[in-house]
Parts: sequence; structure tokens; C-alpha cells
Amino acid sequence: MKKIITIGEIVVEIMAVEPGHGFTTAISLIGPFASGAPAIFIDQVAKLGQPCGIVSAVGNDDFGVLNVERLRRDGADVSAIGVHPTAATGSAFVRYRPDGNRDFIYNIRHSACSAIGLTPEAETLIDSADHLHIMGSALFFDGIVSAIFEATQRIKAKGGTVSFDPNIRKEMLELPGMRDALAHALENTDLFMPSGPEIFLFTRATEEAAAVAELLDRGIKAIVVKRGAEGASYFDRTGEVSAPAFKVEEVDPTGAGDSFGAAFVTCWLRGMAPGKALTIANATGARAVSVKGPMEGTSTMAEIETFLNSQGVAA
Ligand code: ATP
Ligand code: MG
Repeated sequence: MKKIITIGEIVVEIMAVEPGHGFTTAISLIGPFASGAPAIFIDQVAKLGQPCGIVSAVGNDDFGVLNVERLRRDGADVSAIGVHPTAATGSAFVRYRPDGNRDFIYNIRHSACSAIGLTPEAETLIDSADHLHIMGSALFFDGIVSAIFEATQRIKAKGGTVSFDPNIRKEMLELPGMRDALAHALENTDLFMPSGPEIFLFTRATEEAAAVAELLDRGIKAIVVKRGAEGASYFDRTGEVSAPAFKVEEVDPTGAGDSFGAAFVTCWLRGMAPGKALTIANATGARAVSVKGPMEGTSTMAEIETFLNSQGVAA
């Protein structure tokens, strides 16, 4: 089986119990929850039984233990997660507004995440990998960007593959070096996984079909567009296929895209037909949004099969 790796932030998430605006008064919070988009992605890959690992860093503290033990228990290779001697594990506080938007307070850039880079353990993990998943939100930091560049080169040089989820908020686009790092990821990706309008981040085209054609012409093998409660679509040179989302109650949307991506990439590397891979990935995303906590809704294949059966879909 092919080994999948990713490189980027591990954080804890602490969330407000009730919706409201920001954090300027005392409110009830719940957490810490294991989190970080690359960490959610790799946890979901591990739960599907695929060999996988993450290059990251945590602090010498309980938030680090919570994350590392969680990933280890679920089957990810944690050998390239460094422990920073002084900085704390990254954290994100989140509160949902009544309209469903979110307010965040992040402590990531100056956290233990600042130590993520091409350590000897990272090099060993990279050299053991067949596939690299690039999470755009991880490109905020030079050490991560250069480790991703190096991993891209080494994995592609030996015939491996790359997937890329931009997963980016508009404000992040203006960070120094971000646009170049995103362009480099796009240039090297085999499988591009934007959510909705992110497909236009890199195209002249402003309409989806034309944007797909433009990206395929640039040499990207396949594109998966995530559409939230509308499901997802797959495109390659031979055609396209779409699959509707499953009807579930959305309890917490955080992590749906990361879990969906992990399931799709795993199925794709296993050679599954795109339509079936979309169905499994949609089920994984649906389960993720039904559970509170960013990484709490990741699924095993048995759980996905049970879910599909409950929806009347043959697994
Ligand atoms: P994220 O906020 O995690 O970055 P994203 O924008 O990358 O998310 P989405 O398109 O929101 O990704 O969600 C990914 C997948 O999860 C969808 O394609 C769908 O399969 C599933 N999903 C998301 N929201 C819902 C929902 N409300 N009901 C059912 N399935 C959903
Ligand atoms: Mg996303």
C-alpha cells in the first residue's frame, strides 16, 4: 500500500459552548480537541488503514501529548513530530456566530509549529513516502514551505504523486511568499482539491468548466471540487462525475474538507473508480460534520460502510 504524508501544523482547538461574538467576556469553553488541518487529514488517512505520517511539531506539554497520542493510536507514523523545548503547542480558540460564521484566536505562528522543518526525522519520513498531500493553510511559515518544496521534489523524482488542497482564507493570500508557495504546489500537483470558488484562485477563467479545462491543460491529472452540502465533483481528461452529499445535521463543519480529502486521496491511490471514491469521501465528510470537534468525526472504513448502509447506498 502506498504511504501518504503531509507537512504542517498540529494544534488544539478550544471552542465556545454557545454561539455568540468573539471572546471579550468570560464564556463557557469546551476542549482541548486534537486539531490542525494537516493533522485531521492524516488522522483520517490512518483510520482507513493506509500507511501514513506527518511532519510537524508540538510543545513539551499536555496539548502536544493529546495530539501525538491520538495520531499514534489511530495508526499514523508520528516519528517526525518534533517536540519544541520551550514553545507551547499551537492553539486555536473558536466561537460560532449566530449566522454560522466563526471568530478565531490563533496561536500558531509563534507556537511550537515554528520548529516545523526539514529535520533528520522529517527527511527519513519523506524518503519513506509515495504520496505528499499539501495543505495550503500550512504554507504560512518558511520552514514548512521549504520542507514541502523538498518533499515535493524527492517524492516526484522517484515517481510518487502529490495532492493539493488550497484550504485558504482570503487574508492568508497576502502573507509574504504565500502566492509563490501556492503556485509551486499547483504546478506540482497531480490531484487538485479546491472547495467551490477556490478553483478560481489560479485561473484566468471565471466560470467552472473553463477553469477545469485550463487546469487540466496545465498538466494536472485530476480535479475534485468540494461543494459542502451539495456534495462534490471529479474531473479528468476523460470526463467528469458528481456525487450528491448525504443529508445529515451539520453540528460542526470544521474538518469536513480535510476528512473528505483524506478519504478521496486514499481511495484514489488504491485505484478506486472516481465515482465510488466520491461516494466514500462524501460519507466521510458527512460523518465529520455530524460530530462536535474538528477531529472527532474521523471514520474507519467499517464506520463508513455502516453509514452507507444506513443511507441505502451499497458500500
Ligand atoms: P473546511 O471548512 O473543512 O475547509 P471545505 O470547504 O474544504 O471545508 P466542504 O466542501 O465544506 O469542504 O466539505 C467537504 C465535504 O464534506 C463535502 O464535499 C461534503 O461531502 C461533506 N459535507 C460538508 N458539509 C456537509 C453537510 N452540511 N452535509 C453533508 N455533507 C457535508
Ligand atoms: Mg477546506
